[in-house]
Amino acid sequence: MELGRVAFLAGAFATHAVVGYALARGFTDADPRVGLVFGLLPDADFLFPAAWGWPLVHRGLTHTPLFAAAVVVGTYAIRRNRDLTLAVGLAIGSHLAIDSLSPLGIDWLFPVAATAGPGVPVHGPAMTGALWAASIAILAWRTDALRSLRRRVASSSRS
Ligand SMILES: [Zn+2]
Repeated sequence: MELGRVAFLAGAFATHAVVGYALARGFTDADPRVGLVFGLLPDADFLFPAAWGWPLVHRGLTHTPLFAAAVVVGTYAIRRNRDLTLAVGLAIGSHLAIDSLSPLGIDWLFPVAATAGPGVPVHGPAMTGALWAASIAILAWRTDALRSLRRRVASSSRS
C-alpha cells in the first residue's frame, strides 16, 4: 500500500475514533472508550479477506443501518445498560453518517437496494478539521478539568 493511502486511512480511522469518543463522552455516562471502539467498528471490514466478496467487503454489510441496529439491539440485550447502548449507537451511527456523505456512500437500504453518497470529501482536510473541531468542542464542554478551572478563575476574580 502506498504511503499516501496509509496516511489517508490513518486520518480516517483517527477521525472516526475521535468523533465516537467525543459523542460517548459528551452525551452519555458510559466509558468514552466504548465510543472509540464502536466508532471504528464498521471499518473492521478492512480485515475481511478479498475472497469473501459482497456483502463482506469494505463499505458492505458493516456499513449498513441494518448492521448498526443489530449491534445496538445486541448491546442492549446483552448488557441492559442504556448509557452503554446510547454510546454504542452514537459511535456507530456517527461512522455511518460520516461515510454516507462520501463519494462511495453507504447502502442505506441494504439489503433492498444500493444507494450512492452525495460525494462530500468527508476524509479531506476541511471535513476532517471540522469533525475534529466539533469533537474537541464536545470534549471541552464535558471536561471536568475545564469546569474546575472555570470555578477557580471565577473565585479568584471575586477576591
Ligand atoms: Zn467506514
